[in-house]
Amino acid sequence: MKIAVFSCKPYDKRTLASYADNTALSMTYFESRLSMETISLVKNFDAVSCFVNDDVNAEVIHLLKQQGVHTIALRCAGFNNVDLDAAKSAGIKVFHVPDYSPTSVAEHAVALIMTLNRKTHRAYHRVKEGNFALEGLLGFNLEGKTVGCIGTGRIGAAFCRIMKGFGCHVLCYDLYPSQALIDQGCQYIPLDELYQKSDIISLHCPLNTSTHHLINKDSLNKMKDGVMIINTSRGALVHAQEAIDSLYNGKIGYLGLDVYEQENKIFFEDMSSHIIQDSVFQLMLTFPNVVVTGHQGYFTIEALNHIAATTVDNLLHHQHE
Ligand code: NAD
Repeated sequence: MKIAVFSCKPYDKRTLASYADNTALSMTYFESRLSMETISLVKNFDAVSCFVNDDVNAEVIHLLKQQGVHTIALRCAGFNNVDLDAAKSAGIKVFHVPDYSPTSVAEHAVALIMTLNRKTHRAYHRVKEGNFALEGLLGFNLEGKTVGCIGTGRIGAAFCRIMKGFGCHVLCYDLYPSQALIDQGCQYIPLDELYQKSDIISLHCPLNTSTHHLINKDSLNKMKDGVMIINTSRGALVHAQEAIDSLYNGKIGYLGLDVYEQENKIFFEDMSSHIIQDSVFQLMLTFPNVVVTGHQGYFTIEALNHIAATTVDNLLHHQHE
């Protein structure tokens, strides 16, 4: 089977090749993202493999079908970039990698907490300049603090377990509470109560109509002054401008983001130009108590291997289900 692999960075290629070489799969790797602009690359392929930023809309799917493509093998968990209805009516199968990195993303959320709390991002730059002064770098212990976790699925549950290990009180909110987490000492409470009681709030719910801009001026007003907000889930869970207003007035004391509402434009399209056009994002980066990473929560050796192994398995073994 011939597969066109899109949005394929050199590290993806190395990992995928290590699983696909010496199999019946013949992979052709493209760094560009799949969209109407790049659809002409799809000639004589049976399948395409895509990632989070590929734009697999109805028009693209129609042209994939015309080229004889019968499978889309996503290398990510979410489907939000694929028109599933269009794929279904075109008879194109869509596979994904449902569970590739709960620990990786949960650990990254903790890394953002630790960076903000102990200000290691600022300390490192000082030390590089030969400045060992500690003024402005005062942190606080995590032990005994109250951590609120919104969304306790795979990633949220892994996050809660780590924070319990730090000796935190872990408060949870989810539509479907997990008995396993309750047994481990986590407590489910109503969302407003979680806002009121938490020193740190970490978002691990999906983006949908009910969670869009969940963190906005109204929810922020219910929180403690100086609260730490961590978002490794999806950018649009946080209203960026209202978060900036809350950074100015001190309601948000610390903000750690791995995802950002306009990230398709900022992290992917503008990546090569190194010029950030989004003024709200630029402003965000000027705050010393904000740390932003470029959607790297999943980016570990273990997750890349899991993604590659599952994608190859989907392509090789699940064609007739
Ligand atoms: P999951 O489906 O296992 O868990 C999501 C949980 O959110 C579920 O328990 C669900 O009941 C809950 N939920 C749904 N709607 C809710 C609401 N309105 N309020 C509270 N909880 C709600 O998903 P997961 O694998 O844990 O992934 C969580 C999110 O992490 C995904 O949505 C994805 O966007 C993001 N993610 C980020 C990265 C990264 O690299 N930063 C990587 C993978 C996933």
